[in-house]
Amino acid sequence: EAGMRLNKYIANSGICSRRDADIYISSGNVTVNGDVITEMGYKVKPTDEVKFDGRKINPEPKEYVLLNKPKGFYVTGSLEKNNRTVLDLIAKASRAKLDPVGKLDTSTMGLLLFTNDGTMAKNLGSSKKLIRQIYHVELDKQLDMMHLLQIREGVALEDGKVIVDEVSYVENQPKKHVGIELKSCKPHIVQRLFKKLDYNIVKLDRVVYGGLTKKDLPRGRYRHLTKQEVINLG
Ligand code: URA
Repeated sequence: EAGMRLNKYIANSGICSRRDADIYISSGNVTVNGDVITEMGYKVKPTDEVKFDGRKINPEPKEYVLLNKPKGFYVTGSLEKNNRTVLDLIAKASRAKLDPVGKLDTSTMGLLLFTNDGTMAKNLGSSKKLIRQIYHVELDKQLDMMHLLQIREGVALEDGKVIVDEVSYVENQPKKHVGIELKSCKPHIVQRLFKKLDYNIVKLDRVVYGGLTKKDLPRGRYRHLTKQEVINLG
C-alpha cells in the first residue's frame, strides 16, 4: 500500500475522529509539504510533512511506560556527561521518544511514568491536576508523635501548606519508616516537608502513582500500561 489515507493519518495522531478529519481536510485546515490538500483520499508518504492548522502532526501510537526507578538515575537531562538518566533504563521500551511525566529526585526510587502522549503528560504533570501518590519514607531518626500530628494538620512551607492525606506507620515498630499519601506534585515536596521538621530522608520510594502500583515490577524494570490503566489515568 502506498501510504495511509490522510483522514486516518489525522485521526491516528489523536486530533479528531476520521469523520471530523474529512471535514477539516475539505475546509482547507490541512497541508502536506506546505500545500493545502482538500482530497480526503490523499495517501500520506513516509516523507510527507503533514500540518494541521499550521502545526506538524504525526500519527505515532500513544505509548505509556511505567518504570520502577532505582536511586542514582537522573530524571532531567543534565548537561554533564556520564550521568545515568532514566531514559537509559527505558531505551528499549519503544522506538518513540518517551518523556517522563513530572519528576523524581535523583535519589528517589519508585514509580515514574513515561509517554509520548503530550496531552496526558501535560495534564498529569500540571500542578493543578492532583494525582494520588504514596511514598515510603525512611527517616534518619524516629518520627516524633508531635511531628506526626503536625504533618496531619499541614506543615507550612514557603510555597504553601502541604496537604497530606495520610501518614502511616507500623504499630509497635520504630517510626523511622512512614508512609505518606499526598496529591501534590510540587518539586521535592516530601524532602522539604521533613526538612522543615528537622529530619533527613534516608530513602524515598514512590510506591503508588494514580492507580498504579509497583506490583510485579522489580526495581530498574519497566512495563507498558494496559489500555484500561491508560483509561483510568486520563
Ligand atoms: N518528593 C520529593 O521530595 N522527591 C521526589 O522525588 C518526589 C516527591
